[in-house]
Amino acid sequence: MAHDTELYPLDRIVRAQKAAADAGLDALLVSPGPDLRYLTGYQALPLERLTCLVAPAAGEPFLVVPLLEQPAAEASPAGALDVEIVGWRETEDPYALIASRLPSAAAGLRRVGLDNHMWAEKVLALRSALPGVEQELAGEVLGALRMRKSAAEVAALRAAGAAIDAVHDAVGEWLRPGRTEREVGKDIADAILAAGHETVDFVIVGSGPNGASPHHELSDRVIQAGEPVVVDIGGTMPSGYCSDSTRNYCLGPAPADYLRAFGVLRAAQTAQCESIRPGITAERLDAVGREIIAEAGYGEQFIHRTGHGIGLETHEEPYIVAGSARPLESGMAFSVEPGIYLPGLYGARIEDIAVCTEDGGERLNLTSRDLRVL
Ligand code: ZN
Ligand code: ZN
Repeated sequence: MAHDTELYPLDRIVRAQKAAADAGLDALLVSPGPDLRYLTGYQALPLERLTCLVAPAAGEPFLVVPLLEQPAAEASPAGALDVEIVGWRETEDPYALIASRLPSAAAGLRRVGLDNHMWAEKVLALRSALPGVEQELAGEVLGALRMRKSAAEVAALRAAGAAIDAVHDAVGEWLRPGRTEREVGKDIADAILAAGHETVDFVIVGSGPNGASPHHELSDRVIQAGEPVVVDIGGTMPSGYCSDSTRNYCLGPAPADYLRAFGVLRAAQTAQCESIRPGITAERLDAVGREIIAEAGYGEQFIHRTGHGIGLETHEEPYIVAGSARPLESGMAFSVEPGIYLPGLYGARIEDIAVCTEDGGERLNLTSRDLRVL
């Protein structure tokens, strides 16, 4: 496997070790998942057998893998890193192996950071193997690195955005009265793969009243003529980077009160996208849209945060939410997806992925945000 060193630079573990040291952590322990892929490029299988990158704040990092996974690990981008790959045999205890290669608590190992998605059975086994050592979440340290995207990462997100845009541009071929949400969703899922994604992560087709439930996925409900439909779709590209975009469709002329709500939503989402710039806080960006929606009388119907960061995971830092005083910085990528939900009737959400640039914002989804009347 060719290692795309622009997308997965070789110095990430060194940067993570420094960040760990700055946070007072003596080591990072990272099991398979997006953090491991971010640090090494290795897309390891999450198995019951332990795979774990151990990166001491001071000292040489090493990657512990089951012996039977060692050839795969060596063939992966991790094999090109300056990191020892330590295979463990079926009858060995990999947790004891890690402990044997780290200092003891008495010798100065006090706090270790574990990746936020580590399985509980591994967390507890590490706790037993490293007595007296405090365990903390490494998410803050690793998230701080991951949320500031490089130019290559932004390019990967842009490619993901173009792929999901191509699917939205074709939704009209499948969305018809008389078909079920599930039938339409199957066609959309096929198209997500055909557009270049490696996996389909979610397909939401919320017709009529189902559109009022933001995380409704698919059902056997038959879509009716004249109904608004929320379509929110995303997948993961071979690069590891994710797409996520929502557009709104209507099977024939839309009801007048829906059109009023949609117009308010459209204005709110546009205002938010135009407000993106370095220094604006996450909570302020959320408020820009929320104020417009509330002034029009739909404040109680905008029931979720404005957005989430996106990268190797669909949902990651930074969250665009009330209460977050985090100032946005160039390179941060996140969704802008206000919604208005009228229970029992319908809902609408407009979602673009945007990236904060040096002097503003760039949207990575470029298809029309207008209501698409089919
Ligand atoms: Zn979405
Ligand atoms: Zn989203």
